[in-house]
Amino acid sequence: MKLKPFVMLQPVSSRTWLIMELKNIIVDKKTRYQSLAVVDFREYGRALVLDDLVQSSEEDEHIYHESLVHIAMISHPNPRRVLIIGGGEGATLREVLKHKTVEKAVMVDIDREVIEAAKKYLDKFHQGSFEDPRAEVIIMDGREYIRNKVKEFQVIILDLTDPYGPEISRSLYSKEFYSNVYRALSDDGIMVTQAGSSFYFEEVYNEVLENVKAVFPIVLEYNVWIPCFGYACNFIIGSKKYNPLDLSPQEVDSIIRDRGVKTLFYSGKTHIALLYTPIFRRKSYLVGKVS
Ligand code: SAM
Repeated sequence: MKLKPFVMLQPVSSRTWLIMELKNIIVDKKTRYQSLAVVDFREYGRALVLDDLVQSSEEDEHIYHESLVHIAMISHPNPRRVLIIGGGEGATLREVLKHKTVEKAVMVDIDREVIEAAKKYLDKFHQGSFEDPRAEVIIMDGREYIRNKVKEFQVIILDLTDPYGPEISRSLYSKEFYSNVYRALSDDGIMVTQAGSSFYFEEVYNEVLENVKAVFPIVLEYNVWIPCFGYACNFIIGSKKYNPLDLSPQEVDSIIRDRGVKTLFYSGKTHIALLYTPIFRRKSYLVGKVS
């Protein structure tokens, strides 16, 4: 049997791995907070890897970042000030800045070395968004940054490492943190967080969902398959006033047009399809729950 000599084993869960053929390793080091690698996969192209978990890859990052950003952004009628916590590659920032309503996009990431690696090796991800005059990048623990913010942002996007991943992001999935996010949002504000995998990390996901539900009056879940992750990535929206389900595909498409948002994956139909796609759960979880 011909073994591939040069592969990366990515854990999908504690019992499942993705074997991914590597072409190059460009960076492989430890920062103060996590292990950081920039690699080229044969299948997925350039990718950022933190603590052995692929954060995003060139060939499918548009699916992840457009799904993460646009449902919340489009659901708010006039997102002027937006906060991103995490988002090291700069692709979340790129998607936010596509909305011409945005006057200020603040991106807070704890790890300076991730941003530096992104600027040097991930230009296809950030596409110059770090240099946009509306963008402000702050190197800081998002938990500290949010503490004293009050009604400053219409949209807050949490693009963090997984809730079951490295210690540094775990407390940014807590009820206390979501209460601070709630306070930092305008009275009609909306928050979205990436939430890992409801299939492979059921208990952790359930806890994150309950924490958002404990703080926000309107809570929606959605998920989308991300090939380089090996699972359907979950997202959770917490909203103070606007419900993304209230928009028709035609209304979404007209807002996209009015704001000049160019996308590859997201559209009015995608908006509705994502919100109506069932959440990927194990059968053992569903049996007895689904009426
Ligand atoms: N797309 C990825 C995913 O779905 O797993 C996440 C993108 S991004 C690379 C995750 C970022 O969260 C990293 O750059 C990491 O440095 C940042 N991060 C982790 N904990 C943080 C914290 N407490 N405050 C701010 N940023 C944090």
